[in-house]
Amino acid sequence: MKCPVCSKENDDFATTCIRCSSFLQNRIPNLDFFETAWKILESPQKTFRRIVVAEHKNYSFFLFALFGISLSFSAFWYFRLGNRFDTLLDLIPWAVLVGVCLGVATALVLTALYHGVAKLLGGNSSLRNSFAILAYSLVPIVGSLVLVLPIELLTFGMYLFTSNPHPYTIKPLSYVLLMGFDGAVAAWSILLVTIGTIVGHQLSLVRSIVTVSVTLALFGGVFFLAAGALQVGG
Ligand SMILES: [Zn+2]
Repeated sequence: MKCPVCSKENDDFATTCIRCSSFLQNRIPNLDFFETAWKILESPQKTFRRIVVAEHKNYSFFLFALFGISLSFSAFWYFRLGNRFDTLLDLIPWAVLVGVCLGVATALVLTALYHGVAKLLGGNSSLRNSFAILAYSLVPIVGSLVLVLPIELLTFGMYLFTSNPHPYTIKPLSYVLLMGFDGAVAAWSILLVTIGTIVGHQLSLVRSIVTVSVTLALFGGVFFLAAGALQVGG
């Protein structure tokens, strides 16, 4: 971005000129949660710009905590952990508690992996921005946690997490629809991180896709190793 006063080239996300300190674009001190979460779905490119320019990356940890809860319920589903609990009301607090811890761990591991890979491919954003780009890309998954998980719990109850009988055999159509929706939501988040990488790290489309794919592969590896180790241990 060129300074309108002294023509000095500045960083795209700078708010004042590094040479003459003139005003380049609006300061964004804080991010409003609902506005940013809504706009990231509506106009992701513009909203990622706002997130990168914002001085405080508000609610990033909060989004990761909710994502952790979503990840925890998925792990309870995937590893059929429901057999270890008597009722859904015993299971839910554990899934939430494990989820918040998982969210904090995920925030650290995922941000480190993503930032490292983006930097290797020539990305030029700060660690804080990598963290915020990831956090706000999780909005579709977090939205589905709030809107769809209660429906899944009401529809299948404990059968969502146990293997006998499998939830598919109880209500096949509902099961396929809800699982399909979860898949679509995950794909949407992956699309958002890719857009966030193009905007925030100023990488090409191809490099952004590679960044996101490599990060996901590494994170998936770490997640399944950790979950496998816990399963063997417990
Ligand atoms: Zn200037």
